Order: sequence, then C-alpha cells, then structure tokens
Amino acid sequence: MERTSQSKTKFYDLSIQERLDQVAQAAGLNADELTALGGINGLTAGQADHMVENVIGVFALPLGIAQNFKVNGREVLVPMAIEEPSVVAGASFMAKLARARGGFYAHTTPPEMIGQMQVLDLGDLPSARLAILEQKDSLLAEAAEIDPVLKKLGGGPRDLEVRAIEESPIGPFLVLHLVYDVRDAMGANAVNTAVERLAGRVEEITGGRVHLKILSNLADRRLARTRCTIPLSELAFGDYPAEDVRDGIIAAWAFAAADPYRAATHNKGIMNGVDAVVIATGNDWRAVEAGAHAYAARSGRYTSLSTWGRAADGSLVGTLEMPMAVGIVGGATRVHPAAKAALKLMGVTQASQLAEIIVSVGLAQNLAALRALATEGIQRGHMSLHARQVAIAAGAQGELVDRLAAQLVEEKTVRIDRAEEILREWSK
Ligand code: NAD
Repeated sequence: MERTSQSKTKFYDLSIQERLDQVAQAAGLNADELTALGGINGLTAGQADHMVENVIGVFALPLGIAQNFKVNGREVLVPMAIEEPSVVAGASFMAKLARARGGFYAHTTPPEMIGQMQVLDLGDLPSARLAILEQKDSLLAEAAEIDPVLKKLGGGPRDLEVRAIEESPIGPFLVLHLVYDVRDAMGANAVNTAVERLAGRVEEITGGRVHLKILSNLADRRLARTRCTIPLSELAFGDYPAEDVRDGIIAAWAFAAADPYRAATHNKGIMNGVDAVVIATGNDWRAVEAGAHAYAARSGRYTSLSTWGRAADGSLVGTLEMPMAVGIVGGATRVHPAAKAALKLMGVTQASQLAEIIVSVGLAQNLAALRALATEGIQRGHMSLHARQVAIAAGAQGELVDRLAAQLVEEKTVRIDRAEEILREWSK
C-alpha cells in the first residue's frame, strides 16, 4: 500500500482507530462497513443465528491488514483474519520485497467446478459409459436450465466426463463428472443442485443407480497462479549476503519438493496466508484447504505447491499454482458484514480477482517462512509476538503485556511458568 508506506508514521505504529481510519479512507468504506471491520461486532449473534445451528454467540479472530501488495499492477489492501503471530507482518514484508519488480503477476483459469455422480448397479461398464456420452449434449442442455441466474451470467455446464473405477472395495462402478462454470460463486450449492437434478436422467440412460451426487473439492480446473521476482538487492540482510539468502531459499524449497514431511509444513506456510484472506472474505477455507492438499498430491506423491528458482539475472523467482474455489457472491460472502466490507476493501469485482490476490498472499507468506528458515530460523521473528501471547495467557494486562513480553524475550525464556513467576515477583 504505497499510500501508507509513504506516510510519515508506519502503519504498525498507528493506533487501531488510526489504522482503521486510514484503511477506510483509502478504500472508501462507509460507517457501517467500518463498524463491521473494526470491532467485535463484525457479526452479531442474531446474524450468526441465521448462518448455522444452535448459535450461542460469535467467535472472534484478529483482523489485520497486509500492506505493500501490488497484484497485476494494482495496489491492494489485504484483510487477513488469523490468530497466528507473524503472518500479517511476514506477508507485508515479502510483498514489499516483491514490489521492486512490480509485485505479483497472477491469473486464473475459468471458474469451472466439478460435480461428481457415482453410478452403481451397472451391468457392462463400458457400454453404460458410452450410453451416457451419447447423451452428453442433451444432458448438458438440461443442466444449463437448472440455474437461470448462472445461465444469464454466462455460466453453467461446460463438459461431461465419465470414468470407470475398475477396482474398489465394492467392485467396479462409473463416475460422472459434470464440469460447471460457476462464475463469481464458490459454487458448491450450484453444482450440488445440478448433479442432484441430473441424477434421474443418468439412471434412465444407464439403468444403474446414482448413489453420491456431490461437488469435488479437488477443483483442478479452477486454478489460481502467481509469480514474483525478488532482485538480489532486496535479499541481503544482517550478516546474510544476498546470494546466500537466495540459494538458501532455493535449497529449502528443494527439500519440500522432494519430501512429503517437509512439503506438508511448507504448504501449511502457504495456507497461513491463503486461509487468512479466505476466512476474512467469508469463504469456505476447508474447501480451499482440501483442494490445495489434494492438488499437491496429484502426481501420486505429495509435494510443494510452490517453486523457487534462480532467474538468468541472478534474482530469485517464485511461483505458486493451486485450486482456488472462492466466491464474491453466495455462501457467507454477502451475509457476513465483515466479509462484505473485506471484499470492498480489496476492491474486487470478480471472484477471479480475489483468487489472484489470495494466491499472491500465499506465495508471499511462503517466501517469509523460507527466508526465515534459510537464515536466522523461524523462532526469532516469532518470539516477540509469541511472547505477548504468553504474557497475556499468564494474566498480564494493559502495559504489563509489552513489559512482560520484553522481559521474556530478553531472558530467552518464553514460557508461561516463567511469565507467571515474573508477574508474581512484580506484584510483590
Ligand atoms: P450460493 O448457492 O449461496 O450462491 C451461488 C448462486 O448465486 C448461484 O447459483 C447463482 O444462482 C447466484 N449468483 C448471483 N450472482 C452470481 C454471480 N455473479 N456469479 C455466480 N453466481 C451468482 O453459493 P455457492 O457458491 O453455490 O456455494 C457456496 C457454499 O456452499 C459455501 O457456503 C460452502 O461452504 C458450501 N458448501 C460446500 C461444500 C464443499 O465444499 N464440498 C459442500 C456443500 C456446501
């Protein structure tokens, strides 16, 4: 966010109210949107009661703003809902390093989701498969009438595929994939409705029984991709020469690329950034998580979702490609007042733009973790923020939180028992 980085006081040095005012001004938020973002009233219990069952209240998370993000040439303020320290700061800092080469360059494939039907009790599988494919055009035409809103917006069915599962614990069966363009929605409801409605026709055509009818979260046709370049001049810090930082990051990535144990944690770091924005915008983060990890294992071996390498001029280049089933309509995106305001804050008018921002935050967060791991280790940056959480957990309040946290860091003992002991000493 150039506006903020250029202002005299650093964003993180402002009070919460000052930060909120600055963000509201930059994004043109109105009073209601400001209220939704800036407090614990982002969602009332009454509103929550319309969303899920047996509501007794709401559960709040910190909402931070990641700064410095430039995605496809556009400045963007990124709202992140997350309880883990260092993530917002890490993403912001890496976005700043990426700015030297224009920030992040992202794009998406069409918003095509997959609805699955499991067809059981079939005689001859190959002939049932062909019978469905013979009727493909009429099935797609029928599916096109199911959601008139999507049809009007240019969405709807795109393709129909049939696979035979030859071996399973219950023997062979057919799987039908309905490929469905959901435009600016996440699409689960739209797709589930479509496959449920087509099931009767598929039974008529095959003589079999359509058992499950449900969306696949392996949204491998709806990908978001991003890349960034970090020049050597941005990589040196402390006693670490730029080349060492670059090569250390590439070696750290190679570990994740080759080893599932490392890849799980590597991808978790990516999801620290991804989920925080997915949650802040009221999207289904379990769906995005499921898609990410299934995609990471698509070759049969779980691996890194990102890549890091060395460009011809010696700079560091990173890429990230993953399924991104997020919407700006539907689900909770327009129901949750804070989510609605978060979308406005980013100025997105299409789900694809949101996906491009999210995947870029994921790549920035990945870089933050790799840079720390390849140099001073992850704990150093983590410790001061972690110490504040430990101080609060030990019972510190007000000014004592920062004082106690500083003491714990100085002693290099960030543990709750020690924090409680210090508090007892101070209260004497
Ligand atoms: P939705 O049904 O609330 O909204 C989508 C509908 O909005 C479309 O069908 C269309 O009729 C309408 N619409 C209006 N303007 C649109 C536009 N510009 N682009 C696209 N559609 C537009 O929501 P959804 O996105 O179909 O489903 C998302 C919800 O489904 C989430 O809450 C998710 O948690 C839930 N869900 C997920 C799964 C899963 O991931 N496996 C399964 C079931 C439900």
